[in-house]
Amino acid sequence: MPELPEIETVKLQLGKALTGATIKSVQVISPKSFMGKAASAKNKKIVAVRRMAKVLLMDIEGEVTLAFHFKMTGQLIYVGKNIRIVGGHPTADFTGKLPSPHTRVIINLNKGTLFFNDQRRFGWVKVGTKEEISRMKFLQNLGPEPISMTVNQVNKVIKLIKLKKSPIKVVIMDQEIISGVGNIYANDALWEAGIRPDTGCAMLSIPQFKLLFEKLKLVLKEGIKYGGATAADAKYLDLHGAGGHYQDHFRTYDRKGEKCLRCDGGIIKKITLGGRGTYYCPVCQK
Ligand SMILES: [Zn+2]
Repeated sequence: MPELPEIETVKLQLGKALTGATIKSVQVISPKSFMGKAASAKNKKIVAVRRMAKVLLMDIEGEVTLAFHFKMTGQLIYVGKNIRIVGGHPTADFTGKLPSPHTRVIINLNKGTLFFNDQRRFGWVKVGTKEEISRMKFLQNLGPEPISMTVNQVNKVIKLIKLKKSPIKVVIMDQEIISGVGNIYANDALWEAGIRPDTGCAMLSIPQFKLLFEKLKLVLKEGIKYGGATAADAKYLDLHGAGGHYQDHFRTYDRKGEKCLRCDGGIIKKITLGGRGTYYCPVCQK
């Protein structure tokens, strides 16, 4: 599943390449993957590309917005003249011929084509007025993002978290509490803060929470700097210059059995928490 830094990276790239481009038509191949009236995007210029948590938003003329939610296997690929921009779940389609059998929506532009592909079809594209999109329940329910949280928001979220019964790692991945923290960055931020992922929220002090929020910001910013992480099974993307490099900077994520990068004698352990692979150092994370 793509995480926030991957979506932020494709947002920046698409914003640069497509702001000012005109949508000629929207072709819906799989109705399950599309919501709204495709015609309402026709012959309109792209004004801005934005992101809310892991949802990519494309504002077009006339106060209309296209929203892309990648879920497990969604991906967005722009093919233009001498340029290809890829985002979302990495598969061979990142570099292969398009449309592919997984292409669900095609957006034809005056310069190039955008393909929304999705193997498992949990993701979607939605077009609506800017207001309709911003009123979507799940967007409204998103908590603040650690990367841009104000001191007030941090204090408010800490109050909320302290009441939660689940382990801290499960809570920081709850998008309604704070948004945009996926498994990789949750693991690494907890290591940075020296907190064991299975610690109960009531056990943590205010300084520990504050440190954890600082570290979430740190690892997410680093993720964005390196263009996100490319999964081990998609290393072939490097050959094509696609995919990010945060995987070279993992602290604990995917490092089971390896030496801790900080302390002497710590070996990274893997447990399952909230159904997700959870990595920590039993020596320096208390
Ligand atoms: Zn350690």
